[in-house]
Amino acid sequence: MASELELEMQAIDRSLLECSAEEIAGKWLQATDLTREVYQHLAHYVPKIYCRSPNPCPQKEDMVAQHVLLAPMEWYLCGEDSEFGFPKLQQANKPSHLCGRVFKVGEPTYSCRDCAVDPTCVLCMDCFLGSIHRDHRYRMTTSGGGGFCDCGDTEAWKEGPYCQKHELNTPEIEEEEDPLVHLSEDVIARSYNIFTIMFQYAVEILTWEKESELPADLEMVEKSDTYYCMLFNDEVHTYEQVIYTLQKAVNCTQKEAIGFATTVDRDGRRSVRCGDFQYCEQAKSIIVRNTSSRQTKPLKVQVMHSSLVAHQSFGLKVLSWLGSVIGYSDGLRRILCQVGLQEGPDGENSSLVDRLMLSDSKLWKGARSVYHQLFMSSLLMDLKYKKLFAVRFAKNYERLQSDYVTDDHDREFSIADLSVQIFTVPSLARMLITEENLMTIIIKTFMDHLRHRDTQGRFQFERYTALQAFKFRRVQSLILDLKYVLISKPTEWSDDLREKFLEGFDAFLELLKCMQGMDPITRQVGQHIEMEPEWEAAFTLQMKLTHVISMMQDWCALDEKVLIEAYKKCLTVLMQCHGGFTDGEQPITLSICGHSVETIRYCVSQEKVSIHLPVSRLLAGLHVLLSKSEVAYKFPELLPLSELSPPMLIEHPLRCLVLCAQVHAGMWRRNGFSLVNQIYYYHNVKCRREMFDKDIVMLQTGVSMMDPNHFLMIMLSRFELYQIFSTPDYGKRFSSEITHKDVVQQNNTLIEEMLYLIIMLVGERFSPGVGQVNATDDIKREIIHQLSIKPMAHSELVKSLPEDENKETGMESVIEAVAHFKKPGLTGRGMYELKPECAKEFNLYFYHFSRAEQSKAEEAQRKLKRQNREDTALPPPVLPPFCPLFASLVNILQSDVMLCIMRTILQWAVEHNGYAWSESMLQRVLHLIGMALQEEKQHLENVTEEHVVTFTFTQKISKPGEAPNNSPSILAMLETLQNAPYLEVHKDMIRWILKTFNAIKKLRESSSPSPVAETEGTIMEESSRDKDKAERKRKAEIARLRREKIMAQMSEMQRHFIDENKELFQQTLELDASASAVLDNSPVVSDKTLTALGPAQTQVPEQRQFVTCILCQEEQEVKVESKAMVLAAFVQRSTVLSKDRSKFIQDPEKYDPLFMHPDLSCGTHTGSCGHIMHAHCWQRYFDSVQAKEQRRQQRLRLHTSYDVENGEFLCPLCECLSNTVIPLLLPPRKIFNRLNFSDQPNLTQWIRTISQQIKALQALGKEEGTPHTTSSKNSENMDEFQLPEGFRPDFRPKNPYSESIKEMLKTFGTATYKVGLKLHPNEEDPRVPVMCWGSCAYTIQSLERILSDEDKPLFGPLPCRLDDCLRSLTRFAAAHWTVASLSVVQGHFCKLFASLVPDDNHGDLPCILDIDMFHLLVGLVLAFPALQCQDFSGTSLGTGDLHIFRLVTMAHIIQLLLTSCTVIPYLSEENGMDEESPAGEEESAVLALYKTLQQCTGSALKEVPPGWHLWRNVRAGILPFLKCSALFFHYLNGVPSPPEMQVSGASHFEHLCNYLSLPSNLVSLFQENNEITKSLIESWCHNIEVKRYLEGERDAISYPRESNKLIDLPEDYSSLINQASNFSCPKSGGDKSRAPTLCLVCGTLLCSQSYCCQTELEGEDVGACTAHTYSCGSGVGIFLRVRECQVLFLAGKTKGCFYSPPYLDDYGETDQGLRRGNPLHLCQERFKKIQKLWQQHSVTEEIGHAQEANQTLVGIDWQHL
Ligand SMILES: [Zn+2]
Ligand SMILES: [Zn+2]
Ligand SMILES: [Zn+2]
Ligand SMILES: [Zn+2]
Ligand SMILES: [Zn+2]
Ligand SMILES: [Zn+2]
Ligand SMILES: [Zn+2]
Repeated sequence: MASELELEMQAIDRSLLECSAEEIAGKWLQATDLTREVYQHLAHYVPKIYCRSPNPCPQKEDMVAQHVLLAPMEWYLCGEDSEFGFPKLQQANKPSHLCGRVFKVGEPTYSCRDCAVDPTCVLCMDCFLGSIHRDHRYRMTTSGGGGFCDCGDTEAWKEGPYCQKHELNTPEIEEEEDPLVHLSEDVIARSYNIFTIMFQYAVEILTWEKESELPADLEMVEKSDTYYCMLFNDEVHTYEQVIYTLQKAVNCTQKEAIGFATTVDRDGRRSVRCGDFQYCEQAKSIIVRNTSSRQTKPLKVQVMHSSLVAHQSFGLKVLSWLGSVIGYSDGLRRILCQVGLQEGPDGENSSLVDRLMLSDSKLWKGARSVYHQLFMSSLLMDLKYKKLFAVRFAKNYERLQSDYVTDDHDREFSIADLSVQIFTVPSLARMLITEENLMTIIIKTFMDHLRHRDTQGRFQFERYTALQAFKFRRVQSLILDLKYVLISKPTEWSDDLREKFLEGFDAFLELLKCMQGMDPITRQVGQHIEMEPEWEAAFTLQMKLTHVISMMQDWCALDEKVLIEAYKKCLTVLMQCHGGFTDGEQPITLSICGHSVETIRYCVSQEKVSIHLPVSRLLAGLHVLLSKSEVAYKFPELLPLSELSPPMLIEHPLRCLVLCAQVHAGMWRRNGFSLVNQIYYYHNVKCRREMFDKDIVMLQTGVSMMDPNHFLMIMLSRFELYQIFSTPDYGKRFSSEITHKDVVQQNNTLIEEMLYLIIMLVGERFSPGVGQVNATDDIKREIIHQLSIKPMAHSELVKSLPEDENKETGMESVIEAVAHFKKPGLTGRGMYELKPECAKEFNLYFYHFSRAEQSKAEEAQRKLKRQNREDTALPPPVLPPFCPLFASLVNILQSDVMLCIMRTILQWAVEHNGYAWSESMLQRVLHLIGMALQEEKQHLENVTEEHVVTFTFTQKISKPGEAPNNSPSILAMLETLQNAPYLEVHKDMIRWILKTFNAIKKLRESSSPSPVAETEGTIMEESSRDKDKAERKRKAEIARLRREKIMAQMSEMQRHFIDENKELFQQTLELDASASAVLDNSPVVSDKTLTALGPAQTQVPEQRQFVTCILCQEEQEVKVESKAMVLAAFVQRSTVLSKDRSKFIQDPEKYDPLFMHPDLSCGTHTGSCGHIMHAHCWQRYFDSVQAKEQRRQQRLRLHTSYDVENGEFLCPLCECLSNTVIPLLLPPRKIFNRLNFSDQPNLTQWIRTISQQIKALQALGKEEGTPHTTSSKNSENMDEFQLPEGFRPDFRPKNPYSESIKEMLKTFGTATYKVGLKLHPNEEDPRVPVMCWGSCAYTIQSLERILSDEDKPLFGPLPCRLDDCLRSLTRFAAAHWTVASLSVVQGHFCKLFASLVPDDNHGDLPCILDIDMFHLLVGLVLAFPALQCQDFSGTSLGTGDLHIFRLVTMAHIIQLLLTSCTVIPYLSEENGMDEESPAGEEESAVLALYKTLQQCTGSALKEVPPGWHLWRNVRAGILPFLKCSALFFHYLNGVPSPPEMQVSGASHFEHLCNYLSLPSNLVSLFQENNEITKSLIESWCHNIEVKRYLEGERDAISYPRESNKLIDLPEDYSSLINQASNFSCPKSGGDKSRAPTLCLVCGTLLCSQSYCCQTELEGEDVGACTAHTYSCGSGVGIFLRVRECQVLFLAGKTKGCFYSPPYLDDYGETDQGLRRGNPLHLCQERFKKIQKLWQQHSVTEEIGHAQEANQTLVGIDWQHL
C-alpha cells in the first residue's frame, strides 16, 4: 500500500519535472486572458504538488513548486531564465539607503540614547558597529522578533542616521528619484501583470472561508476525497492540554503529539489527521469535546479539503516569493506596492492590502507573519507608499484595533502591531494627525471599548467579567499607540495641526473626565470591609496614561496659542466635573485671629473621596507651564484667570492629601489593603509625577491666589483640626477631657501631617515654572536626597527616579556634580556616594521621601554631622525663589493663622505636661520657623535699594501673643525651650534658629540706619555662647558617667552570657586552638635536610593529636585503638582535569579503574569542610536527618538541597554539603613498619625479590583456584615452589584498628566506590581499594594544579580544611588495605607492578604511554604493605616505597622523552637555555639515555635533539609529578616540609629532589641501576602501542599537561548574544532556540529549557543542559544563559542555582535578565572567581549554600533546563 503510494508520487514527480518554464512562460506571453491561463495552471498543478501525504514535507514541496509554478512566473517576468534575469535587475538597481533588516528572535538590537528620536529606533548589530553611535551612550536589547533595523532612516536619528555601509548608498540628490526609471517598459508591464495575478491569488486563497470548496476558477474537475483535520492555535489552552487531547483524539504517541503541539504553537495550525471526511470529522468532535468547558471556548478545529490546504500552502509560498523577488530591485518593489494598494472593484477598502489587513484576525499565526513580513519589506521600505499605507492603516485603525481586542493572539502576531513602525515616524505621525485626525481616532476607539460606566459617566471596573477584563488588558495597547504618535514633538505648528491637536486634546479631556473621581471610597467605620474593592484597573490606566499626560503638556508648552486654548478647555471640563460642588448645603464660616472665610461643610472621613483627579492635575500642569512661559504677564487678558475660583481648585487635591494623612493616622484601617495600595502608588515614582506632585502644585497655585489665612483655615477644617486651633485652650481641654488614647494619637498625627504639607507647599519649588529653576536642578535635588539615605548603585538610583517617555531619567548629566563613584570589588556593585558639599542641600522634609526613607536619611545625616564634629541640627536648605505667579505663596509663613498655629504648638511644648503634643510636631514647627528665617534672610540679601522687604517674620515672632491670654512671643518660647531637658535632640536646631534670627536682625540693622537693638543682640549672643560652653562641659561630664555605667553593665552581661553559654565558648576557644595548631603541627626537627620517604626518612617524634567532636563537644585523642573520629567529606566525580571530555564511563559494571589514563578523564575528587565528629555521633546525627527527611517527604513532598537517599547531609556546623565521612588516622606506615634486620637491597635486587614473591603468589593463587584443594595440600605445595627467603604467604597480619575505625574505613571506601563508579554500594567489590587510592591521587593532583596555576608555594599555608582533608584522605587510603581482602590487594599490586616489570601472567596491560604515573605510584605504594607484611626477610616498607618511587620516576622519564621529543619541535634559540645550570652532567646523561632509547625503539626516533633541550623538557615535564609525590609522601609519613618550599619562588627543583630522596640529576637513576635499566627500557619500548605512536599512528598525552580553564569569553557581551541568535535548535530543524545556553567548560551551545531538546537519562526526561553535564562534567555543569545573562550551576538532576555573571556594565553592575540594557563587558576577576570555584570542585558546595539560603531554588525543576 505504502509502496504503491510512493510509486504514484514518483510518477507524478517525474511528470512534473518535465514541465518547462520557458514553454509555459511563452504560452503566457501569448495569452489574451493571462489571469485565466495562470489560474488554470495553478488549478492543475498546485494540488499535485502540495498535500500529497498525511505529513507535510515542505522542502520537497517547495522544490517542486519552484520548478513547476514559480519558475515560469520568473521567466515571464524577466523574459529569460531568472538565473540571468534577476542578477541583471539587481545590477541595474540603485538600492535604497535603508537597512530594513527584519530581526530574528533573540537577535541583539541597539538604540542610541543620545541620538535616537525615540527608544523604538534601533539598529542591527552590523549597522551599529559601523555607526557613530557605538561611542555614544547606548542601550542593548534582544529582539522579540519582528521589527526592523532603522539604519538609514533620517527621521529616526537626530545624528548619524547611516552606518558606514549604508552611507555609501545615500543618494546625492535630496529628491527621491523614481526607482522605476531603472526598469525597462516591458519588465514594468510584465511584472505589473504577474504581481497583480499572484498577489490577488494569494489574498483570495488565504482569506477564503469555505472549508471544502475552492474559488470557482481554481476548482478541479476530478476531486479526491482527501481531507485534513486542521488544528489551530489559541492562547487559552496549555501545551499539556493540547498534547493530552491529541493523544486521545487521533491516537498518536506522546512524541507525535508534542510534535503537533509545537508546530501548532509555532505556525498557528497543523493538520493532525488526514483521510476521508468522516474520519477527520470524528477526530474534530473528540478534540472539541475535550477542550471545551464552561469558561473556555474549545480549540479551533476545521475539516478542510486537501486541495484547499494545498492552495493555501502555495499562497503563503507566493507571498514569500514576492518578498524575495522585490529584493532584486526597488523598482519591482514599487510596482508591488502599487498593485497592493490599488483599489479593487468594490471601492473603499477593496485593495489587496486592505483585504489582508481586515481579515488579519481570521488568519492563523503562520499566515499572518508571512504577510506582515511582506508588508515590512515592501510598503514600509518605500518612502512614497509608506505614506499611502499609513493612510490606509489609519483609516482602518478602528476596525483593526477592534479585531485585535477580540482576537486572542499576542500583539506581535497582529497587524495592529505595525502601528509602532508607522506612528513613530515623526512626519507620518504629524500627517496622520492633521489629515486623518489620528489622535482623536485613537482616543475615541479606546473609549469605545471601555463602555462600563457609573451613573456619573465615570469608568467603572468593579465587577468586570473575565471577558471585560481580557478586553481591558488588550485595549491598553491603544494608549501605547497614542504615546507613539506624541513621542516626537512638533518644531513648527500649522493652523491645521493646532486645530487637530486641540480636537485630540478635547477627546483626551473627555477620557480624563471619565477618570476624574472614579473609584470613590468612603471611610468604613465599625466593621471591616467585607471584600477588598477593585482598584488595580484604575491605577493601571493611570500608570499607562502617565507619560501621555506628560507629553500632552509638553506639546502644549511648545505653542502659546495651543497652551492658552488647552488651559481654557481644561478649566471648562474641570468646572463641569465639579460644577455645583457648593450646591445644596449651607456654607459655614470659619474664623481665627480676626480672619474669616466661608467654605462648604465637608468631611473626608465621612463622605466620598477619590484619589483619581486627572483633570485637576492636568490643569495644575498647564498652570505651571503658563507661569513658565510668561504669557500670563504679557497678555493676562488672554487667560481666564478671573474665572478661576481658588477654593474650587484646591478642594479636591486637598481632600486627596487629607485622605493620605488620615490613612496614616490610622483612621481608615477598616478599609483594608486596597486603600493602602492606592496610597502607595499615589506616591510611587511610577505615578507621582501626574498624581501627588501635581496635587501639591495645585495647592501651591491655590495659595498663591488667595489670602493665606483663608487657605489655612480651609485646610484646618479639611484636616478636621479647626476646632483645636480656633479655640484657645482647646488643647488642654482636649487632652484632659478626652482621654481616649487613640484619638489623641490620631489628632497628633493629623497635626504633624498638616504641618508637613505646609512645609511641602513652601519648600517644593523645584519644578520649572513653580520656582526659578531648570530641569537639571530638579533631578540633581532628587539624586541628592536619594543619596542622603545611603550610597546607591546605579540601578537602585534609576529605580528611584521617574523615567520619561524615552526611559531616561536625565541622571547621567548631573550625577558627576553631586556624587562620587566607587568601583565594585569581586562581589557587590559599584556605588555612588554623595559629595560632602551637597549635604547642605539636604531637606529633611523632602516630599518624595517615604516615611522609612525619611527616618533613615535623618539618621544618616545626623551621624555624618557627628562624625564631622558639627552640631546635629538639620536646618532647612536655602531655596530658589518662586516664579512671579507663585511668589506670594511665601506669605503663608508669616500669616496670622500660621503664627497662631506655631505659637499654639510651642506653647504646648513649653507647658509640656498635660498637653497632647509630640516631638515630631515640634520638630516640624521648628523647621517651618527655620524656613521662614531662611526666606527672610534671602529677601534681605537680594533686596535692591528702592524695594522694601515685606517679609517680616522676625518682627512678628518677636511680638508677644495677643489677648486674651497674652502668651509670650514665639522667640521667647524658643529661648525657654532651648534649655528644656526633655528636648535634648532639638537643642541644636533651636540654637541654629536663634543664631539665624540674630544674623537677620544684624542684616536688617545694617541696611536700616537706626541701630536700635544691636547691643541687645550681641549680649544675647554672648550670653548664649557662655551658656553654650557651660552646657558642653556639663554634657561631657554626663557622657563620661554614662559611658562608665554602660561599661559596668556590659561586663556584667558578658559574665552572664558566658555562664549561660559555656559550651559555646568552649567550642570557639577550641576551634581557635585547632586552627592555630595547623601551623605548629609540624614538630621542629633539626635543620638537617628533610627526607620524606625511604630508609633515610627523617624520623618524626611521635605526636599525640587531640580533637573535639563538634556534636558532643567531647575531646578525644586520635589513636589506633580508640573510637573513630571522622571528618565530614564530599566525594564527587570530576572531569576538571580531563583532557578528553568525550570519554566517560560507559558501563560502570565492567569498568576497571586500576590504571588511570594520562588524560585523567574520569576522576574522583574528595573534599571536606574540615569539621570533626565522633563516628557514632555522626551516625546518630545522620540517622536523625534521615528520619526527619522521611517524615517531611511524606508530609510535604518537598525537595531539600541535599539528597538523603544518596547519603547526603549537611555538615552540622557549617551546613556544607557532604556525602560521607573520612576517619582520622595516625601516620599508618609507623604501625606496619618492622625493624630492619639486614642491609637493604638496592633497586635491582629489590625488583628481583618482588618478582619472585609475585611469582610465588601467582602460583599459589592458581593452586587455590583449582578445585578440591585443602589447606593441608596447600601447605605442601608451598614447599615445592621454593618460596623466596623469608616470604610467608600464609601469614595473616592482625588488623591493629579498633572496630569503630574499621567500620569507618569501610564506610568511606564504599562511598568512594559508590560515587566514583555510580554503582550500588558493595564493600566486597575488588575495585573498592582502587577507587580509594584513585581518589587520593586525583585530589592531590587537582590541588597541585591549583597551587601551580596561582604560583603558590607547594607547602605554603593551606586553608586548614584542605590540609586536614588531604592528610586524612592519604592516611585513610594507606590504611584501607587492612579492611580489604589481602589477596585482592596483592592482586592489584601484582598487576600494577607488572605494568613496569613485565611478568608472564599479565599480558594485556596498558603501555607506559597510557598510564598516569602518579596514580600508578599511589596505587603501588598503598598496595605494597599487603605484600610486604608477609615478607620477613628484613626489607623495610620504607625501602619498598623508595624503590617503587624510583622505578615509577624512571618510567615517567622515559614516558616524557618519548612524548615530548616527538611532538614539540625544539627551538634552537639560545634564549631557551636554562641559565642556572651550565651544560653539564644532566645534559650528557640525558643525551646518553636518549641514545639508549633510540636503540631500543629502532629507527623511530631519528633526530637527536641537543642535551639542554632534552633536559629542560624532562625537568619541566616531571615537575608536576614530583610535586604531587612530595605532597603525597608528606601526608603519608608526616615528615615536615622543607622551609624553603613553604615560600614561593623558583621551582625548588633541588629541594624537591632532596625531600624525595632523589638525585637531582634524575637520569643518574638509570646509571646507578644499569643492570636492569636496559631491559626495562626495552620492555617498555617494545610495546606495540609505543611503536604505533612513534610511527605517528596514534596520539599520546604530552607533558607537562596544561591546566584546564573555562572557555574564553568575548569582552563585549553583545557578541555572545549575536552568536546565540544565530544558533538554532539542533533537533527541530532550523528553529531558533528559546534559551540558548553556553557550556563554559567546553563551549558547546545548547537549546535549554525546551521540549524539543529533552532527552532521556536514566529513565527520566531531562533538558539539554542536564544531559550535557553528564557527558561533559560528569554531572556538574557551569553554563551561561545567554538571553538572561545569568550563570547557571548544575549538579546532578535536582541541584542547581544561578550565579552572578562575569559581565558588568559601566556602573559596575550585572544585568541578570538583561532588563536594563546597558552595554556589558567581561570582568576578568569575576570570571576567574567562577573558574576557581570549578577548579576547586566547589560548584556543588556553592549550589548547596545557595539553596540553603534561598529555599525557592530548591523547588525549581533543574533537570528540565
Ligand atoms: Zn541594519
Ligand atoms: Zn546600516
Ligand atoms: Zn548616537
Ligand atoms: Zn561526639
Ligand atoms: Zn563543616
Ligand atoms: Zn560542556
Ligand atoms: Zn531544541
